[in-house]
Amino acid sequence: MSYFKKSPWLIHYDGSSCNGCDIEVLACLTPLYDIERFGIINTGNPKHADIFLITGSVNEQNKEVIQNIYSQMPDPKVVIAVGICAASGGVFADCYNVMGGVDKLIPVDVYVPGCAARPEAIIDGVVKGLDVLEQKYSQKNNTDKKENA
Ligand code: SF4
Repeated sequence: MSYFKKSPWLIHYDGSSCNGCDIEVLACLTPLYDIERFGIINTGNPKHADIFLITGSVNEQNKEVIQNIYSQMPDPKVVIAVGICAASGGVFADCYNVMGGVDKLIPVDVYVPGCAARPEAIIDGVVKGLDVLEQKYSQKNNTDKKENA
């Protein structure tokens, strides 16, 4: 965590989920699972977010919203696809307007399995996402140092 200047903030977006995975994401915020003990804050503003956590698949209606949120987040950033729908479209994959998983649209760093994904798996995915974020910070710092040398 040495590269982080502040606690990593997270934005959650429900693509087109059945709300099963969303309920489990909310459970992570309850005192039972308490994801904030890792210093993670849930924000509604993409400009403040380091982690983009998405439930549900990508479809024709939400693709612009997902791209919009992603493009507003500062670099470096991490994308976590939660649940089978976010990974591949899941049970909705054959629906007429479903494009598939989140990686059809933006790069995904961590996939959290499950239908619905369990809170333990979501927290594990977020912790893995923090590792990826730290690596990206490290690479950015090295690039900045070379450019300023
Ligand atoms: S993975 Fe399962 S629980 Fe999660 S949004 Fe898809 S259908 Fe619902």
